Amino acid sequence: MPGFELFGDNERKQVQDVLDSGVLMRYGFDGNRQGHWKAKELEAALVERMQTKHVHLVSSGTAALTVALASAGVGAGDEVIMPTFTFVASFESILAIGAVPILVDVDDTLTLSPKMVEEAVTERTKVVMPVHMCGSMADLEALQSICKRHNLLLLEDACQAIGGSYQGKPLGSIGDLGCFSFDYVKTITCGEGGALITNKESYYENAHKYSDHGHDHFGSDRGAEQHPFLGYNFRISELHAAVGLAQVLRLDDFLAIQQRNYTILREALSNIPEVTFRRVPEGGVENYSFLNFFLPNEETTRKVHQSLGASGIDACFYWYDNNWHYYRKWEHLTNLKSLGSLPKEVIDGLPDYSKSDFSASDHWIGRTISCLIKLSWTEDEVHQRAEKMVKVIQEIV
Ligand SMILES: *Cc1c(COP(=O)(O)O)cnc(C)c1O
Repeated sequence: MPGFELFGDNERKQVQDVLDSGVLMRYGFDGNRQGHWKAKELEAALVERMQTKHVHLVSSGTAALTVALASAGVGAGDEVIMPTFTFVASFESILAIGAVPILVDVDDTLTLSPKMVEEAVTERTKVVMPVHMCGSMADLEALQSICKRHNLLLLEDACQAIGGSYQGKPLGSIGDLGCFSFDYVKTITCGEGGALITNKESYYENAHKYSDHGHDHFGSDRGAEQHPFLGYNFRISELHAAVGLAQVLRLDDFLAIQQRNYTILREALSNIPEVTFRRVPEGGVENYSFLNFFLPNEETTRKVHQSLGASGIDACFYWYDNNWHYYRKWEHLTNLKSLGSLPKEVIDGLPDYSKSDFSASDHWIGRTISCLIKLSWTEDEVHQRAEKMVKVIQEIV
């Protein structure tokens, strides 16, 4: 997945433009910038690539989620449904605006289970936030229908799935809002950066203003703006946007390499009857950033994961034990370890996660192994890797 693996002359050239002009900020300084507007150019490239009306860049994927929620008017005490398997950024962004993260089980898609979402909806629910983990998507048709029925927003976290699609549409462009991360380890990187996309003009305009101190970007010149509402600073810099611009133009090349490497590994593992693969909802196309597979039970999965590591096969993850990505290790959330006090709405609204039953998630994540698909592997290397993996797995199952 990481775009940093294929870093080179294109990225250097884009960054050099910015250094030569000396204008590191995305707004203003028109006279000095020598025609370079890297953030604007990257937004235009993403509008095209994501088949969406509006794109707004921000400083990170976490910022994109926070700004997306704020732009749609989500606030204190509103419930946001999110999956048990994601990155900590999901609940961070929800808590940042005083809203309440409601954890819901994943199914064999490794993303939000529509059935469990339906059961979790209350009168305080405002948003359903599926997270397209490890390159593949939630059942968006089912989630969309729940959102319609209950008048909820659908916010897609596509931070790990850029380039994937669902029923012919780019992931991120299907919900009311979609978010991407361009941090250092994502499929395309800015170093640090993120984007939110939407077809709804008011969300876009709100996001624009909110991520730059509430300055009214649409009314007047910079410096003389009104402040229609309170905001924050989630701006991206021109330097970061320049790197992203070089990378986004290579996205389709990256995806083709990922697909080739993924396919070689998957075909090899398909010969092992005990190995099954994550379900991709009908009409979905992965971005091939990870190959995710199931083994028959937790014990076997642990053994296989350990043996893969011991055999020098790197970058295969057992998320069940992972601190960043699975609810079981989110002790700071379950014990509300905040530096200051949390808003009363959050404390009152949070379920007692130490008593919650997420056995449906454990059932799937406990037997999942995810292998990162690297861009830098040669075809020969992938074949050798596939052969080794098959050997290791067959010795155990
Ligand atoms: C990386 C990531 C984020 C956050 O992105 P940052 O740019 O690192 O803040 C959010 N959600 C998911 C699923 C991610 O993988």
